[in-house]
Amino acid sequence: MQDLLHYDIIHIPTGSQNSRNGTPIIAIIAHCIQFEPDKVIDMMTSTAAGSRVSSHYYIPYKSGMELSKLYPQYFNNLKFPEKAPIIQFVEPEMAAWHAGISYFADWNKTKNADGTLACQYSLNACTLGIEFQIPEYAIDGDLYRFGKINEIQFEAGFDLIQWLKAKYQPLCDTVLAHSTISVVRAKETDIDFKLMPPKTDPGPMFPWHKLNNTSPITGLTGSTSDSTIDVANLQKKLYELGFVKCSQSGIIDDNTRYHVDAFMMQFGAESWELYSDRDINASIYGTIMSAEYDFNLYV
Ligand SMILES: [Zn+2]
Repeated sequence: MQDLLHYDIIHIPTGSQNSRNGTPIIAIIAHCIQFEPDKVIDMMTSTAAGSRVSSHYYIPYKSGMELSKLYPQYFNNLKFPEKAPIIQFVEPEMAAWHAGISYFADWNKTKNADGTLACQYSLNACTLGIEFQIPEYAIDGDLYRFGKINEIQFEAGFDLIQWLKAKYQPLCDTVLAHSTISVVRAKETDIDFKLMPPKTDPGPMFPWHKLNNTSPITGLTGSTSDSTIDVANLQKKLYELGFVKCSQSGIIDDNTRYHVDAFMMQFGAESWELYSDRDINASIYGTIMSAEYDFNLYV
């Protein structure tokens, strides 16, 4: 097993967590947040009703050395000041409150030790959450424009992911974007069910291509024999690829656009500049239609 001995792990406990009740951990969810450590620590440890959130881990944008000058109350006596430290809010054995309403494939059927559905409307009980600080967040208010994580963050994140995968193998072998699982953010039982803007973090600049063997979707040749866009086929394909809340209306509606955006942000080409071309063109269609689902099914 890989180890995390070469990182400073800063433990900041929070009450915003609950037992998994025996629900297996099946995936890691990558997020991003723009805020500096002091604000994130306030958020993750807040006990104010209605605003309680948490993640297992947060990886700041700055090195330990820089952080120890800015926030000596949290970062002191660091062993690896040149690296990005890792803040841990919730032990991985517990469920953190990071995913919100979320759906993917058949994961919402995951059961706890009693055989009760544990993830009907949220994947919190079966996932781990890692927040990366990205200061360039929703640039100019565009929820599809984010900056990149930096090298030391990637190094810490990559090693953390490998460590978690090894610890919770074989089920936990996939990393998904928050944007992949939270395209639709409501329950169909909600009286005022409506399509809200989807989650879009960690954004299209996240370095998915550098995370070896963590993608559940393969193929992606970007070519299809028929470049005529068949919307019904596209929607069916997105459903089969795990986007189970994708509209099956046969027309390109907002729901379908959101799902195409979500797919391309995680599984599209490197640095895919989504915000420069939001049309569903033949290239995007071909990319999605050539994709294959490659999950370890477990439920
Ligand atoms: Zn998120």
